[in-house]
Amino acid sequence: MMAFLLHCRSLLGDAHVLDTEADIAPFLTDWRGRFTGKAAAVLRPGSVEQVAALVKACARWRVPLVPQGGNTGLVLGSVPDASGTAVVLSLARLNAIRQIDAVNRTMTVDAGCILQQVQEAAAAEGCLFPLSLAAEGSCTIGGNLSTNAGGTAVLRYGNTRELCLGLEVVTPQGEIWSGLRGLRKDNTGYDLRDLFIGAEGTLGVITGAVLKLYPRPKASITALAALPSPADALRLLVLMQDHCGASLTGFELMSRYCLELVARQFPQLPKPFADAHPQYVLLELSSSESEQHAVELLERAIGAALEREVVTDAVVATSEAQSAGLWQLREHIPLAQAKAGKNIKHDISLPVSRIADFIAVTAPQLQAAFPGCQLVCFGHLGDGNLHFNVAPPEGVSNEDFLANQDKVNRVVHDSVVAFGGSISAEHGIGALKRDELAHYKSAVELNMMRAIKAALDPLGIMNPGKIL
Ligand code: FAD
Ligand code: ZN
Repeated sequence: MMAFLLHCRSLLGDAHVLDTEADIAPFLTDWRGRFTGKAAAVLRPGSVEQVAALVKACARWRVPLVPQGGNTGLVLGSVPDASGTAVVLSLARLNAIRQIDAVNRTMTVDAGCILQQVQEAAAAEGCLFPLSLAAEGSCTIGGNLSTNAGGTAVLRYGNTRELCLGLEVVTPQGEIWSGLRGLRKDNTGYDLRDLFIGAEGTLGVITGAVLKLYPRPKASITALAALPSPADALRLLVLMQDHCGASLTGFELMSRYCLELVARQFPQLPKPFADAHPQYVLLELSSSESEQHAVELLERAIGAALEREVVTDAVVATSEAQSAGLWQLREHIPLAQAKAGKNIKHDISLPVSRIADFIAVTAPQLQAAFPGCQLVCFGHLGDGNLHFNVAPPEGVSNEDFLANQDKVNRVVHDSVVAFGGSISAEHGIGALKRDELAHYKSAVELNMMRAIKAALDPLGIMNPGKIL
């Protein structure tokens, strides 16, 4: 290890090889504070060539490496294990917007760019980069690509995979693959780009990407609807899609308990309804014409939903500023959960049509097995993606409740699979769900994944212990 670290210092300079306990501590604990790993050092390369040279050194000295962007991942993918043998490779210094092509509607960026920085650079050219999630002020585009992040605009624009045309990757051998093509059509053999997207750093280090840009809507307006049940939320989804087509850009479900949690933890946020309702849906409409047009379209559709008694009450924002206030309620749910304590998170997807039945069946199963547990159920209903989180009953400590994690997972994930769903919709597998993946994937699927891993990373140095 000494010789390896000396070599790293010669490549990066002392300032960018961190190895004191205090310096490396911020890179070792995951965002939720669930696990703290150990590392021999944190390496902070400032160029693609430096990344390549470091990975070559890792291969030569057989040092495992853990790529890290903003460290906002939720499945223990971005932190090292407890052995202390790995190094963290932070992409944070690779943060340049390389090029924007407003006619091709693409933008080429370094992997360490913060998502918000990418959104702002697109906006400055009059374009939209539509990926949007609550961690956008600190997560990086490399992390978004490596987890194939979803977020709140998937309904209209797709996951990060759909927003990426090309990649630059440093392979586990330390070679640079320059696949920074801005092509919307390219059928030249196996799609290597798609292999690295969602690979959680287990196949190579993403150093750059060509991202898709879209025309910027003139206005996006939101409404908050109150409903009796998740089944009504599905009726509302169909009604909104029939009325608004592709203008519907967001459709987020939140249970009563979620908004109560937000109100408790963040009392300064708006309280749109005087009375509580069992379920809420946050809807967003975007218009390429005007704010006025978006408000009218949304009011008409909500009017129809009220008339047909699909919703019991609704608030339509009349400006983008009011819309931002409503979005804050949704975005503060994960933050309120983190403040309230630990919980057992599930990031699941289901066929949209089966979501209400899934909740109706699974919630009572959880209550029967863990009486008094609190269900924090919210998510991107339009994409069939629920965050189906389970918090301890009143009076039960976090630690005591987390000891049930495997049993809780089995109840939820067995039900997910019975309803034709997936145990990870957008957060990935990391170390947290590795055993669950092995439990639910078929041998055929696992063997193909292992074959790909062994072919690209025969030394097993790329983020070992994650996914597989
Ligand atoms: P990190 O956490 O640093 O890394 C994530 C994984 O990618 C790790 O396995 C890491 O090794 C790998 N990795 C990182 N950079 C690279 C690279 N350059 N090359 C190769 N591998 C790399 N996710 C969603 O999908 N939708 C949401 O709505 C959403 N909301 C969130 C809200 C909050 C408050 C928080 C804290 C997280 C949320 N997340 C969400 C999860 C997280 O933000 C996303 O997964 C994000 O994409 C991670 O980016 P990051 O830069 O922080 O990656
Ligand atoms: Zn989400």
